[in-house]
Amino acid sequence: MSKKYVYLFKEGNTTMKNLLGGKGANLSEMKNIGIPIPDGFVVTTEACNKYYDDGQKLTSEVVDEIQRTMDTLEKETGKNFGGDTNPLLVSVRSGARASMPGMMDTILNLGLNDKTVEVLAKESGSERFAYDSYRRFIMMFSDVVIELDKQKFEKILEEMKEEKNVELDTELTAEDLKDLVKKFKDFYREAKGEEFPQDAREQLIEAVTAVFRSWDNPRANVYRKLNDIPSRWGTAVNVQEMVFGNMGDTSGSGVAFSRNPATGEHKIYAEYLMNAQGEDVVAGIRTPRPIEELEAQMPEVYKEFMDIVAKLEAHYKDMQDMEFTFEDGKLYFLQTRNGKRTAQAALKIAVDMVEEGIVNKEKAILMMDPKQLDTLLHPTFDADDMGHHEVLVAGLPASPGAATGKLAFTAQEAKDRHEAGERVILVRQETSPEDIEGMIAAEGILTVRGGMTSHAAVVARGMGTCCVVGAGGIKVNEEKKTMTVNGKVYTTEDFISIDGSTGNVYDGEIESNEPEISGHFETFMGWADEFRTLKVRTNADTPHDAEQAVKFGAEGIGLTRTEHMFFAEDRIFPMRQMIVATTEEARRTALEKILPMQKADFKGIYKAMEGRAVTIRFLDPPLHEFLPTHQHEIKQLAEELKITEEHLNGVITDLHEFNPMMGHRGCRLAVSYPEIAEMQTRAVIEAAIEVNEENGWSIVPEIMIPLVGDVNELKYVKSIVVKVADQIIADRGAKLDYLVGTMIEIPRACVTADEIAKEAEFFSFGTNDLTQMAFGFSRDDAGPFLKHYYDKKVYDFDPFAKLDQEGVGQFVKMAVEKGRSVKPNLKLGVCGEHGGDPSSVEFFHNVGLDYVSCSPFRVPVARLAAAQAEVRNPRKK
Ligand code: PEP
Ligand code: MG
Repeated sequence: MSKKYVYLFKEGNTTMKNLLGGKGANLSEMKNIGIPIPDGFVVTTEACNKYYDDGQKLTSEVVDEIQRTMDTLEKETGKNFGGDTNPLLVSVRSGARASMPGMMDTILNLGLNDKTVEVLAKESGSERFAYDSYRRFIMMFSDVVIELDKQKFEKILEEMKEEKNVELDTELTAEDLKDLVKKFKDFYREAKGEEFPQDAREQLIEAVTAVFRSWDNPRANVYRKLNDIPSRWGTAVNVQEMVFGNMGDTSGSGVAFSRNPATGEHKIYAEYLMNAQGEDVVAGIRTPRPIEELEAQMPEVYKEFMDIVAKLEAHYKDMQDMEFTFEDGKLYFLQTRNGKRTAQAALKIAVDMVEEGIVNKEKAILMMDPKQLDTLLHPTFDADDMGHHEVLVAGLPASPGAATGKLAFTAQEAKDRHEAGERVILVRQETSPEDIEGMIAAEGILTVRGGMTSHAAVVARGMGTCCVVGAGGIKVNEEKKTMTVNGKVYTTEDFISIDGSTGNVYDGEIESNEPEISGHFETFMGWADEFRTLKVRTNADTPHDAEQAVKFGAEGIGLTRTEHMFFAEDRIFPMRQMIVATTEEARRTALEKILPMQKADFKGIYKAMEGRAVTIRFLDPPLHEFLPTHQHEIKQLAEELKITEEHLNGVITDLHEFNPMMGHRGCRLAVSYPEIAEMQTRAVIEAAIEVNEENGWSIVPEIMIPLVGDVNELKYVKSIVVKVADQIIADRGAKLDYLVGTMIEIPRACVTADEIAKEAEFFSFGTNDLTQMAFGFSRDDAGPFLKHYYDKKVYDFDPFAKLDQEGVGQFVKMAVEKGRSVKPNLKLGVCGEHGGDPSSVEFFHNVGLDYVSCSPFRVPVARLAAAQAEVRNPRKK
């Protein structure tokens, strides 16, 4: 049997998201549970992939199936598509597996032509409405399908309004709109060299093709990368009977959330506009009204609406984001999906729903996107400083946070100035999907128009960027690049501050404070900790970072990069002395200076961790990061070393490496200069003995040898560590356990992990270097050319940020299996950047690691990702 590419709504259900996209699967489900929806069908994501595989063409196989399904839809609705009586009009919308609000294209009123428009006029009793729908359709179709410049149509419309001496579109009469349709069609003919297509079936196929094409548009690509959505997922296309919210005073459209998406409050949050299509609400051109006002206007519609919202939330057991339309008093739902929400709201909703008995803790844990926790860690304005700044205007608090910056009036400007190191607030009338890159670059977003469900609000909330919308007291002049409030003019050189939690906009630059986390966060994260079996440690090089990480729930340190302790100006000098030393004696002199610093650092870190596990990695300095480059530094160093500048220049030249990342670093340094490992062992062991004695603790320091590729490297360095450590312990008559383990970050180490495990008491995967070496991409150089890879879809993601599970991940898996075949209880962790990336954390859980280690601010993210991994794939017996 040939493959099925088109499904009627009644043939689908909510479990078919991968095939039907989120919107299509949910429309199907709504149909099944008896929610009033306009009927229709879905062209699948597989058809989208096929379209790309076939060289961006819809084959006749798919076209025929769409046409046959349209025949069925005509029968089921009793209407005629493109026919001269009872015409069927449809909307054609994208709908990917993960929601991508506003990123792809939509066409409404499809099926209109010169004949059906007349029938629609007769049937609706409004010629004005029919021709208004037709001119909108011509414009949308020309823009999306033919890619004619939308501005040209806008211009024709503006000229007509001028000619008729009116300000609003709604003031144009039916005759005016008829004339406008003619002008639009004339323009189409001139630009395209043919008539505007009158055949509804042809319009349909072209529209489906255009939606598939829009899956690959630049803004969709940017959004996908930001949200980890693979390009291979494709989008589905929903073809659905039109209902009209703009049919007069008993019609309208709106957007609803079953709970407040900004605060999580358990109260339906909805906005609507009378006599408007859904796009008008979302685009933010007119500011919508709160749903409570509908009760007085249309009590029956209001009641039915409230009942359906409650029913949908109870059915999906999650907060729903819905679109609805009422046409001449009859209510329809056009879509439902799990609503995007702020991190605060997500926590409150998850905790409330457990307390209300709607979901269990496992489901609640899965409801929160781990990456979103980041936004809880955002700053708020300093209350005192805020008191000194004038509130210019208040808008709606669309996405929480506190942002300060200079004004930028276009997305491009925001992006450019951000790249030049400036902090900017993007100020717009309203945002549109084309603004996505500027929105990412901006500290905060401020719009003049629009409600809580406008594009700016939805997208900013998803990104966790501070955003205030609907600040109507502002006048923006994009051309002059000015913003006027209360008579005062602001330019691109002026600072403003916006508070996304209150909606206030302030004059000037306000100081902000670190976030405080409490309440629902503690409860929710407590549940995550109950479930997870993967431990979470932190990468910390200072006592301050370590303390911060403990506050965020770190259970130990998985990586202290000892070379990072020497970046500070007063520290780098002895480090350089050590690096450029040409004799053992000179090196030992430098190391003598370093020893007390290292020991004090380690004591500080042990204390901050209050007895928790601490892994200290021995020096791994890519030499080029530490060598002096300025001549005045070289001069100073030469004086200190009592050698000539010339001599030192020669030494530095000799140390120069073509490939420092693959050069004399890691354990290779200790093989060349064992005195470095001796000094570090001394610092680690003495500090541990002293801190244990002072506090009555029993810290077991974990000494980690980096960049091991062969068991003999580890054997050699370990012999030095053990000799020095045991001597110190014996000399001091102390009792101290310690572990010696290794990083696994070279492919050869993975392949020979069974040999290495014989010498190692633990493994920690250095997936930064492992990625570098497995791909052969230099960590320092890959950034610029990897950009081409994303642009050309050779790769979807940055493998340095998100683990390449099929390649690098297999090295990890192999090393886990080989290591544990020798030592079944070998302790295993990861300390590369991937330890804080949710999908990578899930992989590490699945391959059986004991812990992940990540930067302090990502600890909560990793804790939640680990809990989700356990819920999806339990290790607890
Ligand atoms: C790694 O390589 O993954 C690692 C953690 O070490 P570094 O980034 O310091 O090389
Ligand atoms: Mg490394």
